[in-house]
Amino acid sequence: MPSRKFADGEVVMGRWPGSVLYYEVQVTSYDDVAHLYTVKYKDGTELALKESDIRSQSSFKHRKSQSSSSSPSRRSSSRSRSRSPGRPARGRRRSASQSREHKDDKKKTIQETSLALPVLVLFKLSENNTRRYNGEPESTEKNDTSCIILEQKLKPDLEVKRVLEQYSLRSRKDDKKKEEIYSEKKTLVAVKPIEKVPTKTKELEFGGRIGTFTLIFLLPATVFYLLLMCKQDDPSLLNFPPLPALESLWEGRVFGVFLLWFFLQAVFYLLPIGKVVEGLPLSNGRKLQYRINGIYAFILTAAAIGVLLYFQFELQYLYDHFMQFAVSAAAFSLALSIYVYVRSLKAPEEELAPGGNSGYFIYDFFTGPELNPRIGSFDLKYFCELRPGLIGWVVINLAMLLAEMKIHNLSVPSLSMILVNSFQLLYVVDALWNEEAILTTMDITHDGFGFMLAFGDLVWVPFVYSLQAFYLVGHPTTITWPIAAAITVLNCVGYYIFRSANSQKNNFRRNPADPKLANLKFIPTATGKGLLVTGWWGFVRHPNYLGDIIMALAWSLPCGFNHILPYFYVIYFICLLIHREARDEHHCKQKYGLAWERYCQRVPYRIFPYIY
Ligand code: NDP
Repeated sequence: MPSRKFADGEVVMGRWPGSVLYYEVQVTSYDDVAHLYTVKYKDGTELALKESDIRSQSSFKHRKSQSSSSSPSRRSSSRSRSRSPGRPARGRRRSASQSREHKDDKKKTIQETSLALPVLVLFKLSENNTRRYNGEPESTEKNDTSCIILEQKLKPDLEVKRVLEQYSLRSRKDDKKKEEIYSEKKTLVAVKPIEKVPTKTKELEFGGRIGTFTLIFLLPATVFYLLLMCKQDDPSLLNFPPLPALESLWEGRVFGVFLLWFFLQAVFYLLPIGKVVEGLPLSNGRKLQYRINGIYAFILTAAAIGVLLYFQFELQYLYDHFMQFAVSAAAFSLALSIYVYVRSLKAPEEELAPGGNSGYFIYDFFTGPELNPRIGSFDLKYFCELRPGLIGWVVINLAMLLAEMKIHNLSVPSLSMILVNSFQLLYVVDALWNEEAILTTMDITHDGFGFMLAFGDLVWVPFVYSLQAFYLVGHPTTITWPIAAAITVLNCVGYYIFRSANSQKNNFRRNPADPKLANLKFIPTATGKGLLVTGWWGFVRHPNYLGDIIMALAWSLPCGFNHILPYFYVIYFICLLIHREARDEHHCKQKYGLAWERYCQRVPYRIFPYIY
């Protein structure tokens, strides 16, 4: 096995994954097992690179000296032969010496980098030309890199193109030609990876090994505690419920119904209806395909439930055996977590999640080592995220509504129950309607599939999120029409913020050149992705969380103020999203470095304007 070539602390030139951009970086550590160097870019971004992607600084000396003289535009135009943005318009006259210099430079560039590239462009990013993104003079994006080499062939990625448009000073005449080149190349060349190559997870989240070990027991215990509390006449916090007999928690028939439900949803997922879309590029540049048919699954489920009700099936069976269903779902999610953990042991390293691959059993079991565990084209994580749990939540709510009517002998459900059911139905239908948007969320792009998501999707979501409806069955609450109207307005405001913020970001990530987003401004980053600084993402750094929290409050209010139990969801959700926001900030800081700091300066509040 060859020994490492570069020492810790050494300043070298590191290639940006998926491109031939070379930046000055410092080696911070080396992973003997994965043979990867962790390097830090000048703007703070940290990535893991292979040795072949690192060059000594001496091989770039010539270019560095060049980059310190003359204007960027002049330099790029004098050196470039490519049809890249830096290339002068065809027909522009050049002096013989310029032309000679150009040829020499090209030859040297190729020798220095040892890359068999047909055409190379070299230019330096200066403060002058970075001051122009979207015509916004006050927020500049200073790039500290000394030099960047661009290969014409590796530039079809639209996001890279956008950044180049922001940065490079070139004649407008070139634009049209460049557009043609890009559209031509886009069809030929696969999009290059923009995420880092997975390596061993070093920074442990969720309190590390002790934290995750605790959570594996604490999460199920919390669910059982909440369900037992809800069944009590007086669900005050300190009025602990008596523990049920163990044998009362399990019933084979209930487990059978749960399995039937899970596999019915799996069948709906596999139906060849709905479009197939690509996810974001993985670390190896590959894009997975996903079938978008969640809303059809929901409609089919609704039809199936309608048929059951027509044939007098008592849906309140769910209410009567609620705890047993929760136990069945928990047992199933545990088995699923074990399965995905075991299969991850044989998974190629590139398929492991950036955050769930620490080498510590408990931690990896909890966070999930594999990013996208699939059986053929059946994506376990994607399926569990939106189908059995989320649709199950709506069915449980409906069962609670019917149980309320039956137990309290009502001809129509209570106003509170109608509000809770309607608000949460809207939330679920929205998630399914906008199913594609989930492909850009942290759960899909960053987190592995382990106990956390399996339990979260299959147990926590359906059995904890339906707590308000469950509570209302045993604790009838009367609200007046004006109060109901005020709560409805609150829910609509939250929903509007939540939906428009998520759509804005999702559309921007999918197609930054979308004309509908032309009025939005963004900060370019070294990765080629932009960070929106106007619109919702210029209001607070996580406007979608703000909308979600407002809705969570609107879901609890119909339960009145007699007990804190129905407010568990909103309290837990604020904690969850504050923690999630901190995790996301950390990842974004690593990904975007200085650009992220500038974004934070520009948008100082995280979730709640003027508060947090
Ligand atoms: P987000 O959808 O908020 O995505 C965060 C990512 O967005 C960042 O990692 C970054 O990724 C990108 N981003 C951040 N800032 C900007 C910006 N200024 N411009 C453009 N892109 C930016 O994350 P979540 O997955 O946490 O949330 C998705 C939705 O799900 C939210 O509405 C949330 O409320 C909801 N949710 C609901 C839960 C529930 O239980 N009901 C639980 C968790 C979330 P990159 O740059 O790599 O694209």
